[in-house]
Amino acid sequence: MSVNITSVLNETRRFEPPAGFVAAAAISAAERDRLAAWAEKDPEGFWAHHAESLHWFKKWDAVFDGSNPPFFKWFVGGTTNVSYNCLDRHLAGPHRNKAAIIWEGEPGDTRTLTYQQLHYQVCKFANGLKQLGVAKGDRVTIYMPMTPEAVIAMLACARIGAVHSVIFGGFSAEAVADRNNDAGAKLVITSDIGWRRGNAVHLKQNVDEALKKSPTVKNCVVFQRARNTSVHMHPGRDVWWHDLMSDVSADCPAEELDSEHPLFILYTSGSTGKPKGVLHTTGGYLLGAALTHKWVFDIKDEDVYWCTADVGWITGHTYIAYGPLANAATVMMYEGAPNHPREDRFWEIIEKYRVTILYTAPTAIRAFIKWGDQHPKGRDLSSLRLLGSVGEPINPEAWMWYHEVIGGGRCPIVDTWWQTETGSIMISPLPGAMFTKPGSATKPLPGIAAVVVDKEGNPVPANQGGFLVVKRPWPSMMRTIYGDDERFKATYWSNYPGIYFTADGARQDDDGYIWVMGRVDDVLNVSGHRLSTMEVESALVNHPKVAEAAVVGRPDEIKGEGICCFVTLKQGVPASDGLKDELKKHVTKEIGALARPDDVRFTDALPKTRSGKIMRRLLRDIAAGREGKGDTTTLEDYSILAKLREQDEG
Ligand code: ATP
Ligand code: MG
Repeated sequence: MSVNITSVLNETRRFEPPAGFVAAAAISAAERDRLAAWAEKDPEGFWAHHAESLHWFKKWDAVFDGSNPPFFKWFVGGTTNVSYNCLDRHLAGPHRNKAAIIWEGEPGDTRTLTYQQLHYQVCKFANGLKQLGVAKGDRVTIYMPMTPEAVIAMLACARIGAVHSVIFGGFSAEAVADRNNDAGAKLVITSDIGWRRGNAVHLKQNVDEALKKSPTVKNCVVFQRARNTSVHMHPGRDVWWHDLMSDVSADCPAEELDSEHPLFILYTSGSTGKPKGVLHTTGGYLLGAALTHKWVFDIKDEDVYWCTADVGWITGHTYIAYGPLANAATVMMYEGAPNHPREDRFWEIIEKYRVTILYTAPTAIRAFIKWGDQHPKGRDLSSLRLLGSVGEPINPEAWMWYHEVIGGGRCPIVDTWWQTETGSIMISPLPGAMFTKPGSATKPLPGIAAVVVDKEGNPVPANQGGFLVVKRPWPSMMRTIYGDDERFKATYWSNYPGIYFTADGARQDDDGYIWVMGRVDDVLNVSGHRLSTMEVESALVNHPKVAEAAVVGRPDEIKGEGICCFVTLKQGVPASDGLKDELKKHVTKEIGALARPDDVRFTDALPKTRSGKIMRRLLRDIAAGREGKGDTTTLEDYSILAKLREQDEG
């Protein structure tokens, strides 16, 4: 880390939440201020008060234990159960027969599970796990399509104190084996197939491959998603989900677990390197998930809430499963691709189920922009009242499109900054309490001490870029990297003693609003100025012909680094040398001569992680014309990389 980051993005638009939204919102501006001030003055009292709203079998002896940093503990001595909080708690009251999950498969099949029905399935499956010898503390791999059974499996593990490790269904056999071995998994839960863009994804086949190299795995449970798939069931090892469920009781009281009992391991996206097995525990994580879901999404009993992430990512864990279910919300869940059978599939789902809250990612939004406005415009989206974004910085022009075309100008947007490691949302607007600015995640939530500092750890002046850190522990923070305490300390706690390092750059403006500028590793160094790739990308994306852009540095003898831009164009726009020059001029006009691109390259697609994040480290190798050596196990589509390399040689 050298000098500070120079910010060149100048975005001044601001949007007040509509009066009707403000009037009905659970948290007003005054209430937000009160909560934030309370948390500053008495963090432990603040968190303890909110934890009271969860169910505890036994209340904690101490709210916080900071005696062995950075291994912090929350609600010490308390016992609880996440599955109990997401299910049993709701059965006595008015939510028993409320839809917990409304599900639609990619081929169009649908199912709805009420809280009562979900509880029944989870209890039975938990007993099934016990029958297979899974006990408290054992690790269980879940490698499933986006069906309710993925959530049932997670909640069943949580119920008996088994530690789940969900692996995104798009990953290869190799990736599954790596994660099985890293976690020492005893059981794998999978499905014969899942559906993606009209094709069957053969999950069980991948598991068969993976299990050749996973000596710790004793059994495999297979959910039958489709009839007539020729799945090989390994005798003595593999059991069908429905067979396991057929002769177990539905009586399975939730285990009383210590607040610090491990809940899950989840491997990060791998945008910057080899994925890390992030460990989360019970009480603190549940508090973070439930509270932020309630606050940020202003959740109401009648909402149909849809988070489009896969359960294999942290967003799916916290905002499809644990947060919404802890709040007795109705969760929309969809199995497949956004462009199957047509590019309006999301909008069709919103129209059909009258979805009120949509939470998706910038990568999806940029794809929708590329596909054209006619798709959302052909559907009735008037049920929507709130929109969310997560996963990457959202370019201001993508934000504007989301606001106007999807939100009809009436829906506040919550741009939520957080990480696998943080467990729950850290920086976000509370939608009825503050105005928003396109591209800014606004302010830290009450209780979260996120600040922008220089390399010595001092706060940087307004409008200067620096490093985003969190100064005070919070309940849903990761506890360690599974099996690697040293890597945990080195990665997050060695840059600033006692302070959590996020590895993201950011700046704060005159209103105290935070603008996340992307990863510190991605920062460009041009003629002694450190520029955020994201800011140059945002300038490109606001050109009317550009759909998406990735910007990286390449070695330059004079400037240190030259700016190399990989650009995808909107559908139907032809690539030309003239357009390259036009884009260079456009960036220069938007943000200054300093950021003038040295090279613009057109491409049909950008290399991304399977969670849809641009992998700039791979593009850096291509821009520099060197052989790449980094970890590519989480890359979505290898052919994109191959094509870019070919282009480079040609
Ligand atoms: P790895 O840590 O393995 O490189 P990753 O950081 O992509 O992968 P995640 O935990 O899924 O793994 O993503 C967290 C990161 O995503 C953040 O550190 C940040 O860079 C980015 N991010 C998430 N939400 C936002 C947001 N709203 N605005 C800006 N950046 C965001
Ligand atoms: Mg990360």
